Amino acid sequence: MGKVKKGVTCSIAGCEKEAVKSLSLKRISKSLNNAGLKLKDYKKKRRVYLCDAHYKTVKKDLRSEAKIEKMRYGPFG
Ligand SMILES: [Zn+2]
Repeated sequence: MGKVKKGVTCSIAGCEKEAVKSLSLKRISKSLNNAGLKLKDYKKKRRVYLCDAHYKTVKKDLRSEAKIEKMRYGPFG
């Protein structure tokens, strides 16, 4: 997770807000799907830039996914 230069806009299609975080596409692509978010031109990108609101959405999804994995494998896995 990295800091983002000023003037970089969010990578989500239809969003023109300023990005505050950059994440690897690999890590969050599933969360983007779950949240129904699409990227502007994801084929070119390995990193995704997210505005504050979209970052929160993705983070929430990543967290719920971690919970599910914990349930699946139990506390000793
Ligand atoms: Zn956004």
